[in-house]
Amino acid sequence: MRYISTRGGIQPIAFKDAVMMGLASDGGLLLPQSYPTVTTEQLESWRSLAYPELAFQVISRFVDDIPADDLKAIIDRSYATFTHPEVTPVVKQDGVYILELFHGVTLAFKDVALQFLGNLFEYILAERNQKLNIIGATSGDTGSAAIHGVRGKKGISIFILHPYGKTSAVQALQMTTVTDANVHNIAVHGTFDDCQDMVKALFGDLEFKEKYSLGAVNSINWARVLAQVAYYFYAWLRVTDDSNQPVHFSVPTGNFGDIFAGYVAKRMGLPIDKLLLATNENNILTRFINKGDYSLGEVVSTVSPSMDIQIASNFERYLFHLFNDNPERLKESFAELKEHGRITCDAAEMAQVRKDFCSASIDQTETLSTIRDFHEKTGYLLDPHTAVGVKAALELLPADSARICLATAHPAKFGETVEKSLGVPAPVPESVKALEGLPTRCEVMDADLDKVREFFVAQVG
Ligand SMILES: *Cc1c(COP(=O)(O)O)cnc(C)c1O
Repeated sequence: MRYISTRGGIQPIAFKDAVMMGLASDGGLLLPQSYPTVTTEQLESWRSLAYPELAFQVISRFVDDIPADDLKAIIDRSYATFTHPEVTPVVKQDGVYILELFHGVTLAFKDVALQFLGNLFEYILAERNQKLNIIGATSGDTGSAAIHGVRGKKGISIFILHPYGKTSAVQALQMTTVTDANVHNIAVHGTFDDCQDMVKALFGDLEFKEKYSLGAVNSINWARVLAQVAYYFYAWLRVTDDSNQPVHFSVPTGNFGDIFAGYVAKRMGLPIDKLLLATNENNILTRFINKGDYSLGEVVSTVSPSMDIQIASNFERYLFHLFNDNPERLKESFAELKEHGRITCDAAEMAQVRKDFCSASIDQTETLSTIRDFHEKTGYLLDPHTAVGVKAALELLPADSARICLATAHPAKFGETVEKSLGVPAPVPESVKALEGLPTRCEVMDADLDKVREFFVAQVG
């Protein structure tokens, strides 16, 4: 299996090189040259597999440059850190299935991908006798999952910038209580965008990037998408009892990484009817799917902050396929976006989009009332991101179909919002209580690029 860029500017590369490259060197995103297909018989034979075994079956189809035993060991180690024996269990509540993706160490679905990526990085770096310095900006979830994915790993240091006082309390604790020598938290007096701008500036300095072997962990890394494909298979196997039974998935969406993994599962032959793309007020993708309107707006802050995104970076992967894998057409579209702030598609393309997806945008009032109503009816607590997906599923998907809603975070991770919705504090799990009072390590700084660079250089030496 070889990997190509959506912008058409690189020679096909192997899986391990794709993992280390992250963003393609021509500025595009990496994709497999083709999708392996899974037959009905294979799918049936996977029913009895435990999560790590199933993940191996799915992931190994995209990897031909790591020996099977090594890949198995990487996958086993990654999912042994989850606290639920099923890793990603499915529960049924009020006529919808909830795929619980929050049993990892930072209580959000990003652990599924970042535990795998951390182990993969360590394996490849050891083999190549190389080092990697990861730098990233976070509004909370990516940073905490990335830190836990690489803490204590050989050959890797990580520097995560977060806006001081602007993450949820649990997110801040999950980051700053990690005191391993290779983990560096930087709390910036400023916004997430200030953090992001400084990270971009560091990566933009190519000499610096080369000299210090900078790497990224954002959701454009193919290995992250790949790890997430597995749980679509797992959920399908849990809610169906014979082959070819179609299901719907409702996916609360920010950067389009999670839902793109669902699209990959569908391309591999998993019987998925519709992928429901659920957004909050930052609804550019909903406008696109429902009205063909892909025009940039301002980012609005909401109670589901991990979806407060205007430009969904992984959407480029889908557009590439929508444009029949034509990099020229893709580049024209991005030029149009840069010049006019929009991307336009023709009628045939929009028909294809609506075959793959449906979409709904759920506002904050609806999100809060969904958490409350769902809890009253079932006793089950949704986090605000999951609530967006559940509300969209209840609105849009037929009640007599199998509707699987991805639960992307544990409600305790966004306890402030859950409390606002219910009027009483959300229960705090033991794993969160255990964080309070632990020693923390975090550098607090102004939003000053020179200071951040100085700190980085001093630590890396
Ligand atoms: C990151 C995140 C999302 C959005 O996922 P994408 O892959 O960016 O679409 C949704 N919910 C939670 C809790 C997240 O952390």
